[in-house]
Amino acid sequence: MQSQILLEKNKVAFDCKHFINGQYLASKGGEVFDNINPATQEILGKVSEGGNEEIDLAVSVARRALNGPWKNMTTDNRIAVIRRIGDIILERRDELAILESLDTGKPHWLSNSLDIPRAAFNFHFFADYLRSLGTEAYQTDDIAINYAIRRPVGVVGLINPWNLPLLLLTWKLAPCLAAGNTAVIKPAELTPMTATLLGEICKEAGVPDGVVNIVHGFGPDSAGAYLSEHSDVDAISFTGETATGKTIMNSASKTLKKLSYELGGKNPNIIFADANLDEVIETTLKSSFINQGEVCMCGSRIYVERPVYEEFLNKFVAKTKELVVGDPFNPQTKVGALISKEHFNRVKSYIKLAIEEGGTILTGGKQPEGLERGNYLEPTIITGVDRNCRVVREEIFGPVVTVIPFDLEEEVIAQANDTHYGLSASLWTNDLRRAHRVAGQIEAGIIWVNTWFLRDLRTPFGGMKQSGIGREGGVHSFEFYSELSNVCIKL
Ligand code: NAD
Repeated sequence: MQSQILLEKNKVAFDCKHFINGQYLASKGGEVFDNINPATQEILGKVSEGGNEEIDLAVSVARRALNGPWKNMTTDNRIAVIRRIGDIILERRDELAILESLDTGKPHWLSNSLDIPRAAFNFHFFADYLRSLGTEAYQTDDIAINYAIRRPVGVVGLINPWNLPLLLLTWKLAPCLAAGNTAVIKPAELTPMTATLLGEICKEAGVPDGVVNIVHGFGPDSAGAYLSEHSDVDAISFTGETATGKTIMNSASKTLKKLSYELGGKNPNIIFADANLDEVIETTLKSSFINQGEVCMCGSRIYVERPVYEEFLNKFVAKTKELVVGDPFNPQTKVGALISKEHFNRVKSYIKLAIEEGGTILTGGKQPEGLERGNYLEPTIITGVDRNCRVVREEIFGPVVTVIPFDLEEEVIAQANDTHYGLSASLWTNDLRRAHRVAGQIEAGIIWVNTWFLRDLRTPFGGMKQSGIGREGGVHSFEFYSELSNVCIKL
């Protein structure tokens, strides 16, 4: 079992160790780093700092486990094990939700209602999907018959970000296991707690030792980098910053690893004058500020058709001022603490930059009074900036949005596409033809019409341009986590 967890009035003492070959282990040299609570700056516990030795060990046991009981397990049994992981996550939901909020600073109600149930659902979904998964077959007249067989890719490295730690990790791990692979997971160094517990959860569910391995540590020149260049790792699924993705591609090129990338975004939220403004505002508050704006899908560039620009701004600013910022464990809190002091300073530097670029801060921009200890920042709305400004072009990844008016449909499409990102977009209109027309022209992997973050896990999820490579979800995840071999039989 993972070392003693003390949960008392949302205080915790939790040391995070690696999980390798079904056991919790410290680093060979005893290296550790502090895990800091973003809401209080208190130390939550020590985290074992993995390096080359721990990655080597995890990769070698994952390689061995590929040919062990995991390989010979029937599909029915594998489905049962994967479903059971989801069940145990739900059984331990209270504990996991507390740990997720302590680690990230996000509101506890959000961890409890979204992150943890969705992490469980990822396992339930891919277990169910596996049952109906097929391959293709083609008959070539009376000459031959072809059919494809599916096999695991092998040892897969799963490298994860800190914003939705367990949700995004399980979004990778569930299909990775369903397809019969073994995994070496590198959780984000800032949010190691729920990933750590996932080790014992997998073991309890019946995952054979060595199939799921977790190595904590840092990215550059450390565990993450070594995992991505490791000669015995067959594929890397990475979610994180676009710049990190480029570095990993370099390292992975040495052994030509298969790569799946979910990267950054600077997503447009396009509001036409005929939309239902109350619905728009209710959802735009979420698409702007939920999870402190630390969601890759956040609609941080808001474009509003001029006839409703003033009305939208007045209502949006008023509603934003009502959002409670503060203690993640206060049920009223809508905006918690940003992940780290360093990230907080980075987000604040963009607010300063917005002013230098001629922008106006309509609300927010400051740390709320009395909350100086945590990384709290008021939700911030910026106007008076344009497509040339860095605050409109660069991913800020915090509770900060820009609002820009537009007059013409072609003009807003051009502005929406004027970015090297292409992750998601929202558009709001009651004109059906326009919805189809504009959706077909926005360069993004996911386009929501009159909604945001509405997900069906069967659909393709991922980004265009520098927001990603490949798609996840349903069969798309299996395309990445399996190799297809075509068998051609001459008749
Ligand atoms: P990050 O790129 O800094 O780190 C992500 C992970 O990569 C961490 O585990 C880190 O340790 C590791 N890493 C860092 N450098 C590495 C290297 N050189 N080699 C190997 N591993 C390395 O990203 P972050 O700050 O944790 O997350 C925020 C970013 O993630 C944002 O850009 C956000 O848009 C993006 N994101 C994208 C999606 C999506 O689905 N597209 C989802 C969530 C977050």
